[in-house]
Amino acid sequence: MRVGIPHFGNVYISVKAMAQKLGASDRDLIIPLLMTQKTLDLGVKYSPTEACLPYKLTLGNLIEACELGADTLAQARGTGICRLGYYAKNQEQILHDLGYDAHFITIDVSHHKLASILQLIKGMCNNAPWPKIISAFRFGIGKLFALDKIEKVVQKVRAEEVEKGEANQVYREAIKAIDKAAEHKEVKRITSEYIDKLSWIPKEEDAKPIKVSIVGEIYVVIEPFANMDLEVELGKLGVEVERTMTLSRWVKYSLFLNPLGIDEWRDVHKAAMPYLKRDVGGDGWESVGEKVLHAREGYDGIIHVAPFTCMPEIVAQNIMPSTKEDIPVLTVLCDEQMAKPGMITRLEAFVDLLKFRRKRRKR
Ligand code: SF4
Repeated sequence: MRVGIPHFGNVYISVKAMAQKLGASDRDLIIPLLMTQKTLDLGVKYSPTEACLPYKLTLGNLIEACELGADTLAQARGTGICRLGYYAKNQEQILHDLGYDAHFITIDVSHHKLASILQLIKGMCNNAPWPKIISAFRFGIGKLFALDKIEKVVQKVRAEEVEKGEANQVYREAIKAIDKAAEHKEVKRITSEYIDKLSWIPKEEDAKPIKVSIVGEIYVVIEPFANMDLEVELGKLGVEVERTMTLSRWVKYSLFLNPLGIDEWRDVHKAAMPYLKRDVGGDGWESVGEKVLHAREGYDGIIHVAPFTCMPEIVAQNIMPSTKEDIPVLTVLCDEQMAKPGMITRLEAFVDLLKFRRKRRKR
């Protein structure tokens, strides 16, 4: 079995680590190169026009995986009220029509998530014993937690560094080092080493950066290719970014704490209640709630990232202007028509507005 996976943030590092611990070779796990314009072009060419960007990008990636020899493809499946439920079936049909004879294996991201992932790993590694699978799984997700911990520091440093780009350089090196790490102890050591390196970067004195929260659909919020490196661009403008959605948070709650009855979105849903009383699929309910909460928490602004034609985020986008909690929101719609210079111009204008509002509040 040669399993291909699509990209989603740093997930590939985690999957690779698990596969290596389980003794899989480079031939067993096919990870396409990081996404490029070619991936997007492939996805756009073979997807229905109205499909959302995550569908198109993952399809492009799966085609690339097939080209590299994958005969089995992993994809998410869900039972929520949006298109995610159709991704795997639909993409499998498209790939068959294109002549790729790949079999799909799916990960349930709506129910029994942990069991679904562990069963999938077991099936992929010739029924290795459970203790070995669990140990490999812990090692893999440990890398996700480490990377998110470093990224959180990077988001702060980017806004304050004197020489723009230094924090990104350190972050890129950290990703490579964590990817290579063969033991949990090494991952821990690399994490603190790179957090130290970030603290040595010269910063502007008395910097009080504009603080922005990023909300929206999980795939485009987390995958930098999908949002055109939005966070890096904001860092260049001296903006500190905070984002609730991270892969490690998803793992922590969805796989371990939700089954114990702990709901990480309870306060966010409560905040959304006066404006939206129910789940509308995807992350739409959370986007509205986060807007309300972050307005109260003293952020300067919110950037709402949404795939074009994403139904849940269209609902959220239309509700956001009517909440009584007043905070500027910039919605960035991501699709194949989006161009980086246009996005940067909009970010610059938005940041100017936030600076102006902050100055006016001080008077
Ligand atoms: S939440 Fe939106 S972008 Fe994500 S799968 Fe559903 S419709 Fe597509």
